[in-house]
Amino acid sequence: MQTVMKSSKLDSPTTQSENIPDNHRNQKLPRTHCIRCGACCIKGGPALHLEDIGILKTKGIKRSDLYTIRKGETVHNNVAGKPSILSEEIIKIKGTGEDYSCIFYGPDEKGCRIYANRPIECRVLKCWDTKDLEAIFEKNRLCRKQLITPDTSLAHIISAHEQRCSYLTLETLINKMREPEAEDAVEKALELLHFDHNLRPLVAQRLELPIEEMDFFFGRPFTTTIKMFGLQVKQDGDAFLLTPIEQKIGGLRYLATN
Ligand code: SF4
Repeated sequence: MQTVMKSSKLDSPTTQSENIPDNHRNQKLPRTHCIRCGACCIKGGPALHLEDIGILKTKGIKRSDLYTIRKGETVHNNVAGKPSILSEEIIKIKGTGEDYSCIFYGPDEKGCRIYANRPIECRVLKCWDTKDLEAIFEKNRLCRKQLITPDTSLAHIISAHEQRCSYLTLETLINKMREPEAEDAVEKALELLHFDHNLRPLVAQRLELPIEEMDFFFGRPFTTTIKMFGLQVKQDGDAFLLTPIEQKIGGLRYLATN
């Protein structure tokens, strides 16, 4: 089960040999130009940077195409070659399928459907040489504050959600589940999960916003991301049941169950 989110295009290319699709392995290397094979796009969409604001303004990329990976989430960082915890949030293009293949990749046409307006990470990425991408990878990353009008109801709700539903709070509760006050911690964690879960349709309804934009405003739901702690949520009607994922998650923070 995939539990580690890709943090940016840099999570796709790792080594030259890994980046070369099988049907190109016998060609002479190094490659000097992009052949639009889609190998990078299939490995996940890019994180956005200040340079991408223009495409957002012209609606080339809509808010419903985006999601936020919040501070404290575990992502796989291929530069470091290991999972790392995000110290600041990032905004990414959504993915589909188990690989989180970029939503703008068209498998039929085998190419990017917004190629002329693709984000900066995609423009600088050369799968045969990731130096240019590494140079911009951690610079000028966009966050929600730069994209949401301040002092609006929505901005206040996002800020309140961030305070109440931070990953630090969730992790603290999960760690307490191993201690004598486990029952109380489970109850509080479930409350948090419910709050985070229920807030989204409520905000969409009250502020008349598309539900598809909620993962951008509030990050992905805890019910999904709690996997990074080795837990899963089973839903039984309105009730949530928190259970350990049986599969061992190497190298990640997870709740010891014994
Ligand atoms: S935006 Fe286009 S180029 Fe960038 S990852 Fe998605 S499909 Fe590929």
